[in-house]
Amino acid sequence: MPRARFSAVDAHNHLGRWLSPDGDWTTPELGALLELMDASNVRAIVNLDGMWGDELEANLDRYDRAHPGRFSTFCQLDWGQTVRPGFGQRLAASVERSAAAGAKGLKIWKDLGTRVRDDRGVLVLPDDARLVPIWAAAADRGLSVAIHTADPVAFFDPVDERNERLEELLAHPDWSFADGERFPRFDRLIESLETLVGANPLTTFVGVHVGGYAEDLAWVRRMLDTNPNFYVDVAARLAELGRQPRTARRLIETHADQVLFGTDAFPPDAGTYAIHFRFLETGDEHFAYSGDDPPPQGRWAVSGLELPDDVLRKVYAENALRLIPSLDG
Ligand SMILES: [Zn+2]
Repeated sequence: MPRARFSAVDAHNHLGRWLSPDGDWTTPELGALLELMDASNVRAIVNLDGMWGDELEANLDRYDRAHPGRFSTFCQLDWGQTVRPGFGQRLAASVERSAAAGAKGLKIWKDLGTRVRDDRGVLVLPDDARLVPIWAAAADRGLSVAIHTADPVAFFDPVDERNERLEELLAHPDWSFADGERFPRFDRLIESLETLVGANPLTTFVGVHVGGYAEDLAWVRRMLDTNPNFYVDVAARLAELGRQPRTARRLIETHADQVLFGTDAFPPDAGTYAIHFRFLETGDEHFAYSGDDPPPQGRWAVSGLELPDDVLRKVYAENALRLIPSLDG
């Protein structure tokens, strides 16, 4: 499926520099990226890599300002601030500066909850009351907060022959949170996200990677039912959704206003988009969710969701355009 059936927004991607090993842009050829977007029927990409300050300006110059309507850059926060008291106010001020510069949203990465520590060395979790000024500032400025909490449940399990993501964890040992002395347990992190979203109803949160808990769609359903300010994206979770396609389809159909298309695949490529479109649009059964062998996120295949057209339109673009109005028009 080389083209999305309806114009799509890839609401989760990384077009910046901080994730590149060489510090270069993840997409050096911007012309080729725009051609790929046109060929794939991707009208816009959300770039979550805006960081803050000069790096935000560089991202906005390269994407949002050079190609209005095609790119939308989110800012991030300097979590090095948390080692000094008063960080909530300082980080809220950073959100306000970034919004004034032109950031369209705020991205919170998984290091909040797993690595970020305060002046006493205590981990700062998403529901930490000291962070509330950040969420208030985002709400004031109309910025959605895309938040990545925890990671796949298997990443918290021992890295042994019973771990269903063993090959991935062997390839990326630093992705493991198995060490319970250093890292909180998965349940604590996901409860923290639930508390955060419930306690800040005026702030719009997008729980990336199916809310961080694609393994338990009943939990995701409850979160979406309980919190009108909560959305999820499907980025990097085809493998999970595609091995429970009936439950996934029911969830997306009944919460079609709260689910965003996104890939987290960078640099964007035609093959990855084609698999996503096949997954969302067709009822094909038991196909590969990745071109890699073995597949990167577990040794299984997926079945398509065959979403109806009205649901596809919302998931592909309408919901993202509502959260990021500057992309519309
Ligand atoms: Zn991502």
